[in-house]
Amino acid sequence: MIKAIFFDLDDTLLWDQKSIQEAFVATCKVAEERYGVDATVLEDAVREAARNLYSSYETYSFTQMIGINPFEGLWGNFLDDHDDFRKMKEIVPGYRKEAWTAGLKALGVDDPEFGYELAERFPEERRNLPFVYEETFQILDSLKGKYQLLLLTNGSPDLQNTKLSITPELVPYFDQIVISGAYGRGKPDPSIFGHALSLMELEKEEVLMVGDNLMTDILGANRAGIKSVWINRHDKERNEVIPTYEIHHLEELFPLLDELNKK
Ligand SMILES: [Mg+2]
Repeated sequence: MIKAIFFDLDDTLLWDQKSIQEAFVATCKVAEERYGVDATVLEDAVREAARNLYSSYETYSFTQMIGINPFEGLWGNFLDDHDDFRKMKEIVPGYRKEAWTAGLKALGVDDPEFGYELAERFPEERRNLPFVYEETFQILDSLKGKYQLLLLTNGSPDLQNTKLSITPELVPYFDQIVISGAYGRGKPDPSIFGHALSLMELEKEEVLMVGDNLMTDILGANRAGIKSVWINRHDKERNEVIPTYEIHHLEELFPLLDELNKK
């Protein structure tokens, strides 16, 4: 009997990748207007510079363990109460400026001041471009009351709460919200799933984990002995991680839950 559903946030309920993409488009357009550079090429160059820089910092293994990606680093402030987050808070202003400046440079534009301008513009654009999947609220409305709901998200509490404050309609659906940066370890560590179970006072057999990421949501749920549902909206190839169930749209949760609760 399934009593609760654990939902991942980014790219499961909130369309974070689209928000990041649109923030890049808006910010790179500013550069296109100023210097005539190709916005798409600049986006690729900045993404690459960001990935490289991000992995060069001493905080990299911490961000890997908690689950914070390079593009979150381009707009997060990391005002969290923890030594590694304090380090990130110090690093990110320079990181942003360098990533954008290096991106411009790759296109032949040497203008660190403008790099700084774009670096400051991107977080503004990201904040103004939240996207929620069109089915998200309808799905949560139907589940609420029938199942307990928990949000299990990797990231900086400051940044994840910023995302939730930009889309304030989400929070009231959840009985509990667990953010890896506040707990201390991120998915796929099974201990954060254990933590979530104990908050809900439930057994692992009574829960379903729904998420878009095989290497965090699904692998972690598997390790914790929790049934997993991989939401594969974009027909990605499976890797060695095997979800208990695979769906392509959140609405497929309903027949699945009916089936599970018949047994
Ligand atoms: Mg996700």
